[in-house]
Amino acid sequence: MRIARHVGGGFILGTSQGGWVSTGALGVRATVLADLIEHLPVLAESAASATPDVHNPHLAAPVGRPGKILAVGLNYLQHIAELGRPRPSTPMIFAKYPSAVTGPTDPIELNPSVTAEVDYEAELAVVIGWPARNVDATHAAEHILGYCVGNDVSARDLQRAEPQISRSKSLDTFCPIGPWITTADEVSDPQSLRITTTVNGVTRQDSTTADLLFGVPELVAHLSRTMTLEPGDVILTGTPSGVGSGMTPPTYLNEGDIVRCEIEKLGRIENRVVSPAANR
Ligand code: ZN
Repeated sequence: MRIARHVGGGFILGTSQGGWVSTGALGVRATVLADLIEHLPVLAESAASATPDVHNPHLAAPVGRPGKILAVGLNYLQHIAELGRPRPSTPMIFAKYPSAVTGPTDPIELNPSVTAEVDYEAELAVVIGWPARNVDATHAAEHILGYCVGNDVSARDLQRAEPQISRSKSLDTFCPIGPWITTADEVSDPQSLRITTTVNGVTRQDSTTADLLFGVPELVAHLSRTMTLEPGDVILTGTPSGVGSGMTPPTYLNEGDIVRCEIEKLGRIENRVVSPAANR
């Protein structure tokens, strides 16, 4: 099942005809993801055969305000090689703050008073559906609602300058996610998906989640040993090689650029880079 949200309109679900049906039309009031998850079995059955009632929706981020966004650095083998860094022995975790979340087609705003080096990072995003505390890797899948595409937009100059990197990763609009959550039952293996980024149509990242150093089950298990993962929490699993800072010379995003991140089976998000003034 595809779970999306549309701007100003709550949750909508993909039908087998390809369109969207509102949860309200299926008799379920769901304002937050936890409400929807509670009714998931019924919704999955009724959404498939429903008649679409929402047409050409402007999609919002499928999780508007995750309780937490846990991101993983240095988690693709080729990306580690590209940066010339040693392979981590344990996942490198940092926080990305929920206020950075923006929709799958909404603008990424430059903030030139703070950063001159804005970069993209296409990432497989894991959305937690059921609380996970002290789970082991073999049971991790039972806690995952599904997957979507994320762009871990990063201010590289801030990232280099500060020992804590969460600020450099959390500027407003620096976390586009979407276009929708594809439930885990439709993704047989999250570690065999092609993942790509283009900027203005030119390929920058082209890899596969098979290159992940720490896979999805290991990440869920590792994080759940430290803190309870709750419904709607998002794990950004790291980015493959091909980021702008790894190019010669480094090439950052500019006003007007169109950044498209795409993952096989999950769809794509496409965000225009704008100056703050152009967006107001
Ligand atoms: Zn990242």
